[in-house]
Amino acid sequence: MLSSPDVLIATRHHQMFPVLEASEIGRIARLGERRTYAAGSHIFTTGEVAVGAFVLLSGRVDITQRNRHAEPELIVTHGPGSFMGELAQLSGRPSLVDGVAREPVEALVIPPSRLRELLVEEAELGERIMRALILRRVRLLRSGAGGPVIVGGADNTDVLRLEGFLERNGHPHQRLDPNSDPCARALIERFQVTPRKLPLVLCPNGAMLRNPTEVELARYIGMVASLDPDRVYDVAIVGAGPAGLAAAVYAASEGLSTLVLDCRAFGGQAGASARIENYLGFPTGITGAALMARAYNQAQKFRAEMAIPDEVGRLDVPTNAGCIRLTLANAEQVRSRSVVIASGARYRRLGVQNLASFEGSSVHYWASPLEAQLCGGQEVALVGAGNSAGQAAVYLADRVAKVWMIVRGHSLDASMSRYLIERIAATRNIQIMYNTSVSALDGSDGLLQAVRCRSHLSSDERTCAIRHLFLFIGADPNTDWLAGSGIALDDRGFIRTGANFQGPLVVRHNHRIPYRHAISYDAACARGSALR
Ligand SMILES: Cc1cc2nc3c(=O)[nH]c(=O)nc-3n(C[C@H](O)[C@H](O)[C@H](O)COP(=O)(O)OP(=O)(O)OC[C@H]3O[C@@H](n4cnc5c(N)ncnc54)[C@H](O)[C@@H]3O)c2cc1C
Repeated sequence: MLSSPDVLIATRHHQMFPVLEASEIGRIARLGERRTYAAGSHIFTTGEVAVGAFVLLSGRVDITQRNRHAEPELIVTHGPGSFMGELAQLSGRPSLVDGVAREPVEALVIPPSRLRELLVEEAELGERIMRALILRRVRLLRSGAGGPVIVGGADNTDVLRLEGFLERNGHPHQRLDPNSDPCARALIERFQVTPRKLPLVLCPNGAMLRNPTEVELARYIGMVASLDPDRVYDVAIVGAGPAGLAAAVYAASEGLSTLVLDCRAFGGQAGASARIENYLGFPTGITGAALMARAYNQAQKFRAEMAIPDEVGRLDVPTNAGCIRLTLANAEQVRSRSVVIASGARYRRLGVQNLASFEGSSVHYWASPLEAQLCGGQEVALVGAGNSAGQAAVYLADRVAKVWMIVRGHSLDASMSRYLIERIAATRNIQIMYNTSVSALDGSDGLLQAVRCRSHLSSDERTCAIRHLFLFIGADPNTDWLAGSGIALDDRGFIRTGANFQGPLVVRHNHRIPYRHAISYDAACARGSALR
């Protein structure tokens, strides 16, 4: 039986590996440079930045991926007319596969900047190549090959943290579990790694990290590079949620030099949505991750640059009317003529004393396949009554024994869309506890054992043996980082906007910014959840 990545190749082979006609190669020849490679030479190598994408003019090239034991596995052999490349080449990131010349090869090398030109200038060919780039990444994501190997148990909180981070950034990764894999055990013994230092992360470039932060990992695997402090962008966008990515697509497609910064992953809150059904044009619904990946790739196609993960810590508008300066958490600086603030919202946390000790292992703010796998076959609890809670409940119900929904109010009508209320009512293993709040969490070593709930009507406390709790209790504007910037916030932290806003910091309206979005400075504008 074919495994999932191979099914993709079998069913979409012609789309994944398009062969260009001589006339098409002739048209794009101006974008590249002809190069020759001897038989056996490594044209590109996993973990290293390739010179670009390639169109094979003569000869054959084996494309291999590395499995979790670093052994090569053949994906495809390219021949004349084949296009060689993957999404990594669109943004000049390290390659996720190896390309080795089987025989003497001549190829047209197209550097990343010219590849993006090709995608925009050549509508039909560009579409075929973009589709191939995306399908190739999807296949790598399914096999996990090409990215880092995480050595640690599936239930280790830090393994979950790093897997979640890579997953949300659409970066392939694999796990070696020391409980079942002798190589993983040998590695841990060889480097005398204590449980506290797990997981180990083996990077494609050979580096080995011990329980890294997300930012450390991202730097080692080349997801994010240093920014040029002397460059002045036309637009810098803080936040790569739906608002930030939409702004990036429109700014970049108008030819503005555009930089998008996000401290975590592209997609923002929407990336966590199990199924978005109210977005125009998707009658069968689409997962938030898939929708946001499309937007992310679309923005890059138009040459928007991505700096993810990179957290913006401060915004300064110099008094001499120079560029706006953004200072990042790692002290790097970015200069831009205008800034779009799309930093959205951050999840509200439950007012329970020991909550932090369970976050990441037993308390979750996302319901993605990763969390669903953790909870498989168990009963889980979910707090919330909005659309995100409803979507998560329906998604989890298919994958767990039972979902207990804990709802503060006496109905869902005021806060949830009708289609979700009906779906919940029709799902036999979702049970709603109305007029109820979580009063305490019991457990130890980061593992939840029970959730205590109190009824508002009777004040009775009930203890439920639950090991996984999902929180979808709304969000607050993510605007703390604007402190000291001079941008006016209201008492709830929303950015003050609008024609009627007469705060002391309104300088003047830029006639190109609609009044509804005009804020304190004419060069900065706000978008999305951070906006009131
Ligand atoms: C589980 C879930 C399901 C949902 N389902 C739906 C649905 O079906 N339909 C619907 O219409 N809406 C849905 N929503 C709501 C929708 O996702 C949000 O309205 C939308 O994501 C808001 O977009 P945004 O870009 O304004 O902000 P966000 O999505 O919050 O994105 C903001 C981004 O900014 C980044 N950021 C914040 N501060 C900084 C900083 N200082 N530096 C750098 N980056 C920063 C964050 O990491 C984040 O990625 C759902 C939300 C959730 C959580």
